[in-house]
Amino acid sequence: PPAVGERPTRIRVDLANLAFNLRSIRAHVGVPVMAIVKANAYGHGLVPVALHLQAQGVEQLGVAFVEEGIALRQAGVNVPILVLGGIFGPQVAQFITHDLEITVSSLDKLRQVEAAAGQLGRKAVIHLKIDTGMERIGVHSYSSRAFIEAAVASPWCELKGIYSHLACADDPASAMTQQQLERFLEACGHIERIGAPMPLRHLANSGGVLHFPGTWLDMVRPGILLYGVQPDPASQCTVDVRPVMSLASQVVYFKVVKAGNPVSYGATWTPERDTRVVTVPIGYGDGYPRALSSRGSVLIRGRRYPIVGRVCMDQFMVDIGQDSAWNEDEVVLIGAQGTERITAEELAQRAGTIPYEILVGLNERIPREYH
Ligand code: PLP
Repeated sequence: PPAVGERPTRIRVDLANLAFNLRSIRAHVGVPVMAIVKANAYGHGLVPVALHLQAQGVEQLGVAFVEEGIALRQAGVNVPILVLGGIFGPQVAQFITHDLEITVSSLDKLRQVEAAAGQLGRKAVIHLKIDTGMERIGVHSYSSRAFIEAAVASPWCELKGIYSHLACADDPASAMTQQQLERFLEACGHIERIGAPMPLRHLANSGGVLHFPGTWLDMVRPGILLYGVQPDPASQCTVDVRPVMSLASQVVYFKVVKAGNPVSYGATWTPERDTRVVTVPIGYGDGYPRALSSRGSVLIRGRRYPIVGRVCMDQFMVDIGQDSAWNEDEVVLIGAQGTERITAEELAQRAGTIPYEILVGLNERIPREYH
């Protein structure tokens, strides 16, 4: 139960499962892991997740923005951290002063990093970003030679890594991944030809870890799989992982709705006979998707019941038919109760989105507990 004075809705983060997943992924790929903890560690809580991964001996962390990296440093995280996003010129010095590794994604950016490092009198640790087909950030592999040579020669940059990002690795049948791998290795070939030491080559996201052993190279970068969730629920999972997040609330209201009386905004759902309805205090204001209006379900007393009518900002209603439920009964939205389970993958399918969006959408209004 929540602490006195705390709202009854909470996210439970199972740190033992997180550690299990890290071990499981490591054993599967046999190379070091860069654990991706951007976007509040996929909704699980940036700092507690990173500290636990650090305690488990994770080799490297990856975040999206410099602010996330600074928050980790301020919390005492001291493992190497790569910021994956494109750099914003005025922020470059902050990377260096907080000992954050920089993604360099163009020759211009390389020059910006060199200028900032020169001014601070301190070398920047960089990873080169090669675009092999995602068309997001990075130098196109087919024109990367001058860029790579400049980085190798840079007096103010320590070249620690070279990487690219896979666009279709969650689909084991896609030919795109092999093509991206070939383009990436071709770019890495420029370093070999110069005779410079090869930096860490990393390419695999969760889809790569699951389906494309050729992409594992020197380090892998799993995000969603680390949290025990599949990037694509339709494809076969080849690594044993366990869900880290569960989300639960409690019944705050019970009533009988008479046949013919609609429930919630827009009056979109009306019972055909008298039925029992309970109210659950969580809504789209917490990041629980409004798209689950009359589509989602929850677990109460070990049974599955449908959400009826529109999900409101802070509450929604559940039809329990002729069954019984009492105020303060536990309501599971993600996780197990009795023999029933609701996964983030299921929620995503019902809401017409991907599990990533479900996890990262659950916001700071919901207290997180760590076990
Ligand atoms: N690497 C990069 C560059 C990313 O942007 C991401 C996330 O989008 C990941 C790795 C992790 O992806 P996933 O959660 O699919 O494993």
